[in-house]
Amino acid sequence: MSSLESFIYALTAETPQALKLLSVPTLVLWVRLLTHLRDHLTYTEVCTADGVPMAITNENLFFFAEALKITRVIVRETWAIHGRLLWKYASTAGPRAAPFDLLQIFLKVGVQNGIGFRSFFPPVKHCITEACQQRELVERRRIYAVLFTRELGPVPAVSYSSSCAQCHATFYPAYWVHGSGEIRTHYLGIPSAIQVAAHAYIETSLCDRITDSMVCAWVSSTNNARIYNLEHAAQREGFPSEDIWKATVPELTTALVWDSFFIYALLRHFDELKTHLVLSNRTLLVLDGRIGTIYARSAVIPEMDKTDRDHGSAALSWMALQLGDRAVHGMIARDPYQANVLAIAWITNI
Ligand SMILES: [Zn+2]
Repeated sequence: MSSLESFIYALTAETPQALKLLSVPTLVLWVRLLTHLRDHLTYTEVCTADGVPMAITNENLFFFAEALKITRVIVRETWAIHGRLLWKYASTAGPRAAPFDLLQIFLKVGVQNGIGFRSFFPPVKHCITEACQQRELVERRRIYAVLFTRELGPVPAVSYSSSCAQCHATFYPAYWVHGSGEIRTHYLGIPSAIQVAAHAYIETSLCDRITDSMVCAWVSSTNNARIYNLEHAAQREGFPSEDIWKATVPELTTALVWDSFFIYALLRHFDELKTHLVLSNRTLLVLDGRIGTIYARSAVIPEMDKTDRDHGSAALSWMALQLGDRAVHGMIARDPYQANVLAIAWITNI
């Protein structure tokens, strides 16, 4: 018997009325959806002091009713009776699997309620600048996006941001933009997905594959994008077309692959240094007609040299690529001792 089945039996033994409202398959599906959406619910619902949503409301209520094929009244009543037990299981269920059948539910009834298969939130609820001393963030905003996953292809996602009323900093899932609007600072660590455009995220595991294919087989960004789009042609076809998702394009492009390659490399580098990656917010890395300088270069190069000297055998190789009237030059370093690969690049006129 699986742990989920054990839980359902325990739940119905403890509160037999559960089966009066819901069948066992419906309870199982509810627990799976709760497990998948627990971060989303924590962010969008009012929670008790120990983090349990007090009720299922608004678009979440519509979503669960439609996904479980029960009435909204039953969703409310079931949550009132079993919510804490269901949440307890959903919070201890371990790594959340992302099976294909759940994705189909989100494509059918999630997107029409504005709920993405994945949601991204700022990791802070209070301003972290020194001057503001933990002032609570306000003005929550929602953006509809695409997440390029390694296994399931492009899936609908929702990205939230919030801002500080005092210093006007805006906090996004991956970084915060200072009040001046000039500088963006990435949070410490490496997230599960990297933001590469306002409406686009790329899973870190896909960034790994892109990096490996570039470094080991010299697959170009364009061909990485082509391969991915071919692999997931059916998923791209099935991407939601509702109005709110129209700004999202479920197609991986050369520019997005390049950005994920560089941002991921820089994030890993700064993660090893245990410091923040800071970039100009006005000079995006996007390699289209608005090519700019990657400011982080000057910070990275000295550290690269130091790493090379310390280990003595870090393999360095150079790459060059022409994009329009610009040339991209990059350096790829492979450190055999730490088994990591770091790629950085900068851009010059031809
Ligand atoms: Zn502030």
